[in-house]
Formats: sequence, structure tokens, C-alpha cells
Amino acid sequence: MVSKEQKEKNLIAFQQTLAAMAGNFPGKIELRATYSLDSITPENSKWYFSIKCPKCKNVTPIVPDASNGKRGNPFSGTGKISVECFYCSNHLLASAAEISTFQWSSP
Ligand SMILES: [Zn+2]
Repeated sequence: MVSKEQKEKNLIAFQQTLAAMAGNFPGKIELRATYSLDSITPENSKWYFSIKCPKCKNVTPIVPDASNGKRGNPFSGTGKISVECFYCSNHLLASAAEISTFQWSSP
């Protein structure tokens, strides 16, 4: 079980990695490990890399997409993202291919 504090640290590190690679468009971001990330509070009409919850079928935002969807899904590799569903708190574990970019509209 990953602590809340560690998830917060992971989220910050992950966002910094994305920011550092923003100039690398259209390069791929390789996931090499499982990243357990803290949940974010999404803002209306912003774009987020997201995961679909297999339980409630809603899309959960993971981290902001600075390209506003233009970049598509830049993730590759064998690592995974672990995060709680925004809607039902189900534990989500997604591979790189399961990540999509999504414009958030508040429920
Ligand atoms: Zn859910």
C-alpha cells in the first residue's frame, strides 16, 4: 500500500517529468514502473491525461495535458499508472495504451 504522502510526491515528480518533456513533442514518454499517483482536482474545460474506470465507466483525470489534446496519448512502455477513480474511488491500474487525453467538464 502506497501512502498518501508518497502518492503526492509521485504526482509532483510525474508532472515535472511531463513538463520537462513538453518540448519533446511528438516524442513518447516511456513508463518504466508503476506510478501510484495522488488524485487531482480537475478544472472545468482543461485537458487531462485520463483513465476510464472499468467499474463505473467514467473517465478519471490523472494529470494536466499541456498540449490541450493535440499531443494525443504520448505514453508508451510497460509501466502502469495507479490512481483512485474520481467518481467511485475504485482502484485503477492502467497501462500506457489505456491512457487517453480528455477535456474535463465538471459533473
Ligand atoms: Zn469509477
